[in-house]
Amino acid sequence: MAATVLPILEAVPALAPAPHRDLCTDCGISRSSHAASCGKACQFIHPRHDALERQVHGRTRDLATDERFFGPVRAMHRARLRAPRPGAQWTGITTRIAERLLETGMVDAVLATASDPADRWAPRPMLCTRPEELAECRGMKMGYSPVLALLDEAAARGFTRLAVVGVACQVHALRALEARLGLEALYVLGTPCSDNTTTARFHEFLGLLTDRPERVTYLEFLADFRVELRFEDGSHRHIPFMQLPISKLPRDFFPLTCRACFDYTNSLSDLTVGYMAGEGDQWLLVRTARGAAMLELVREELALSPLGSSGDRRAPVGTFVRMLERSAGGLPVRGAPQWARPLIGWLQRRFGPKGLEFARTRVEMKMAEGILNLRAERPQRMRRMIPDFAWAIAAPYGLAPRPGERVEEAS
Ligand SMILES: Cc1cc2nc3c(=O)[nH]c(=O)nc-3n(C[C@H](O)[C@H](O)[C@H](O)COP(=O)(O)OP(=O)(O)OC[C@H]3O[C@@H](n4cnc5c(N)ncnc54)[C@H](O)[C@@H]3O)c2cc1C
Ligand code: SF4
Ligand code: SF4
Repeated sequence: MAATVLPILEAVPALAPAPHRDLCTDCGISRSSHAASCGKACQFIHPRHDALERQVHGRTRDLATDERFFGPVRAMHRARLRAPRPGAQWTGITTRIAERLLETGMVDAVLATASDPADRWAPRPMLCTRPEELAECRGMKMGYSPVLALLDEAAARGFTRLAVVGVACQVHALRALEARLGLEALYVLGTPCSDNTTTARFHEFLGLLTDRPERVTYLEFLADFRVELRFEDGSHRHIPFMQLPISKLPRDFFPLTCRACFDYTNSLSDLTVGYMAGEGDQWLLVRTARGAAMLELVREELALSPLGSSGDRRAPVGTFVRMLERSAGGLPVRGAPQWARPLIGWLQRRFGPKGLEFARTRVEMKMAEGILNLRAERPQRMRRMIPDFAWAIAAPYGLAPRPGERVEEAS
């Protein structure tokens, strides 16, 4: 149906407060008319990775191929927008595709995440019906975005063809509820996600990185083992991972939800737009026919090329897993002496895994981290929360389920 034109601020309805849920990333379902379904839809309460892969892709991932790490996929590309968009996290492919979905009338509305007017880092869910509204959604915000609460607003306005831009925990709940939303079409544009935390905690982190945290406009964990900071005055700073002030962070700095999240690459989306395998560009994972259709919307605006892969992840991931085991679920780089960190950082950039091998590295680290964190903090949740593919990914590093830690996934 035709979109109603509203001024941008009116396009952001007030959300209900979030009721308390243990292990919750406030995806918005608990604030919506679907609140009673958290117990069935949530990736932390009732994860159904295999069943939802079958629902979305008609099959589960092939554990004998790179799908073991990245989920079901039809094609992958290295990509960048020839004309990068200002304010985007990378070149802005995600929001450009969302714009095109509205421009072409393929959807009535896009649910995405803008910034809170009072704090550029705080997520603000937004229901966009006009392409120009999506410029506000560019860039990563740190914190939880209750974007799925806007499903009610979309339904109330009679929208039946929707796109949702979201991270994996949001997409898991969305897919679990998809059949009962009564939609004519749903386009799911996912990004990978890792190491999220509350916006308040993120501000603490910025305060440790720089003496002018309020001037930081951009932060990204680059694929060359450095963090990039950009400031309001246009200056940049690169900090090697090994020199991050991780030892100064409290143990619960990253919530257990995000330390025990097993779908790093958002495998239930139609199209995932990330950067890990992109070697400085972006990384597209086309997963479904709708994902392929979304790529076609911007193909002519993209520089596309094959993905590369080099280096050998086994030693660095093995070292990471051993450090993590020793710290019993704490943050893993505490042990490296200060003097050695610049050298280790340089070695990582020079010889470390690159391209797809870097992406496999990060996925393996995340699976090991999730398993060990749950074992240390919520062992009773392991049977339910750890998917079989995570055990398969972690197996080469000596991580295997102990009695009682694994159960056949309910479908
Ligand atoms: C917390 C977090 C961690 C991430 N970690 C990784 C990672 O480890 N590896 C990787 O490859 N990619 C990661 N990403 C995705 C990455 O930052 C880029 O968003 C993605 O690569 C797309 O870039 P772009 O220029 O196309 O995005 P843009 O065009 O700038 O669009 C960004 C989109 O992200 C959405 N968004 C922004 N903040 C949030 C949020 N807090 N919650 C939900 N949606 C949000 C907005 O709706 C927006 O449409 C992460 C994203 C988030 C939010
Ligand atoms: S479904 Fe969403 S709102 Fe409900 S408990 Fe899970 S993360 Fe929280
Ligand atoms: S790390 Fe996982 S659980 Fe945390 S916000 Fe990202 S997708 Fe959700």
